[in-house]
Amino acid sequence: MTRSALVTGGNRGIGLAVARSLAGAGHRVAVTYRTGPAPSGFLAVRCDVTDPDAVDAAFRAAEAEHGPPEIVVSNAGITRDSLLLGMSDADLHAVLDANLVGAARVARRATSGMLRKRWGRLVFLSSIMGFSGSPGQTNYAASKAGLVGLARSLAWELGARGITSNVVLPGLIDTDMITELDPRRRDELVGRTALGRVGTPEEVAAAVGFLTAPEAGFVTGAVVPVTGGLGMGQ
Ligand code: NDP
Repeated sequence: MTRSALVTGGNRGIGLAVARSLAGAGHRVAVTYRTGPAPSGFLAVRCDVTDPDAVDAAFRAAEAEHGPPEIVVSNAGITRDSLLLGMSDADLHAVLDANLVGAARVARRATSGMLRKRWGRLVFLSSIMGFSGSPGQTNYAASKAGLVGLARSLAWELGARGITSNVVLPGLIDTDMITELDPRRRDELVGRTALGRVGTPEEVAAAVGFLTAPEAGFVTGAVVPVTGGLGMGQ
C-alpha cells in the first residue's frame, strides 16, 4: 500500500537517501529543504523546522498534494561544535531547537492526521553520539539523546492508535556533516567500528525503510543502530 510520506531535510545526505528509498517503495514523498535549490523528483517544500509556521505550511502542502503524511521521518539536524566551557548560548539553543524541539514540532503537527487514519510511522534520526557522548558535542549529543525520550514517549501516547515511533541511530555516515569533523577524530571513530569504515546514507535509509514498512507494525520505541559496530550495546 502506498502512503503519504514526509522527510525533513530531504535535499541532501541521509534525508535525500531516505526520500529516494521511500519513493522507490512506491510512497508519495514530500521533502522539506531549508536552503539551496529544491531537490527534484519529489514534492519539495521550503521549511525551517525551527519555525512553527513553516512546519505547518509544509504539512499543509503535503496534505493538499498527497494527503496527510502517514510516514514522517524527522531527519533535519545541525552541529555547532565546541567545548561546553566556551559554547555560546546561541549555539546551545540553535542545536537543541533544530534537532530536538524541531523534531517534536514536526511530530506534533504529524500526529492529528495519523490519529484520524489510525495508522502512522514516526522515525527520528538520532546519533550514536547521543549514547556515547562526544567531546565538543554536548549540545548535539544532548539533542540526540533527547530524541530517544521523545520517540519512546510518543510510542506510549500513540501506540493504541496504530502509530509506531522509533529511532534510527547512525554512526559515522558519509555526508556533508562529517566533513566538519576533525580528520583525526574521524579516523579514531572509524577505528572503533567493527567494519572499519564509514556508512553510506543508503544504509541508513534501509533501516528507515524497514521501520516504515507494514511488516514493522509491532516495532515501536526501538532504537536501531546503523553504526558499523561503533559503540555496540545501546
Ligand atoms: P547534512 O548536514 O548532510 O544534512 C542536514 C539536513 O538537515 C539538510 O537537508 C539541512 O538543510 C537540514 N536542516 C538543518 N537544519 C535545519 C532546519 N533548522 N530546518 C530544516 N532543515 C534543516 O546531514 P546528514 O544527512 O549527515 O544528517 C541527517 C541527520 O542524521 C541529522 O539529524 C544528523 O544529526 C543525523 N546523523 C548524521 C550522522 C552522520 O555521520 N552524517 C551521524 C549520526 C546522525 P540545508 O541543506 O538547508 O542545510
